[in-house]
Amino acid sequence: MSTVAGERLRLHYERIQKEWTVLPPTCEIMEDSLSGSDGNAQINGLNADGLPRFQVREDFPPEGLSPTEQARWVEVVSAHEITHALDLILARRGPDPMWHRRLYWEWGGFLPVFGTWQDVEAEAAGQAALSSFWMWSPAESFADAGRKALTGAGERTVICVEKPQDEMRAWFRTLAAAPSIEEPEVEPPKEDDMAKWISSDLSVATDELGNGRVMVGITGLTAGVPALGISQRIGLVGTEPTFPNHTFSVAEDATYGVLNFRGDSVKKGTSWWRVGAIQ
Ligand SMILES: [Zn+2]
Repeated sequence: MSTVAGERLRLHYERIQKEWTVLPPTCEIMEDSLSGSDGNAQINGLNADGLPRFQVREDFPPEGLSPTEQARWVEVVSAHEITHALDLILARRGPDPMWHRRLYWEWGGFLPVFGTWQDVEAEAAGQAALSSFWMWSPAESFADAGRKALTGAGERTVICVEKPQDEMRAWFRTLAAAPSIEEPEVEPPKEDDMAKWISSDLSVATDELGNGRVMVGITGLTAGVPALGISQRIGLVGTEPTFPNHTFSVAEDATYGVLNFRGDSVKKGTSWWRVGAIQ
């Protein structure tokens, strides 16, 4: 068994991926299918790592063509299969699984003529012959439109986009560079946007173990927004001061927090603290 035929597709995948950056950087090439099996090439879904899995027939491209014709055929067939991969990848990334299909349908102007893509898909599924299913399938229409965008080869499906190749290529490039919905770019909060509050100096009574606890009122923070509490021991005196363990937990309504500390070097006395909170 070999992947010689499949590896030719991989070269096109790596080239097209630079233009359609939403595609994963690599793909999986399965062992070439036997001569005589259906189709020149196919995509077998995505693998467990989310990479598209392609399989090419071992005798593709056929002998008896010039090297130029063979290279062209590989390019065109690869472009079709790689557009299927784009279809699968985009379906995973949208707010609803087929958002890009809807965009494609609008862009192609198919709605008034054929109805929604779901209507057409149902119609395709009802076709008895595989060839008629293929002609009507929205997924095949999309794959052939991508093929035309990338290579200029004519579309073969009933639902085809009658636009110039450069316009189609630009549209696919924009679609395939769609930012991920799963990983939105989040702007880090700016310093000025942060709500902050800091207490004045607090005197807190300690017990015989140097433990203390006090409830402190907070102003100016927003209820329900998680707040990070900060506490700091200040005004240390004495020959062997220890920094006690301490926490300042802010209540959910952000109107007060509780300072808790243990093991202060001041026993049965007063230690001094400052607390704060950031949202
Ligand atoms: Zn196809």
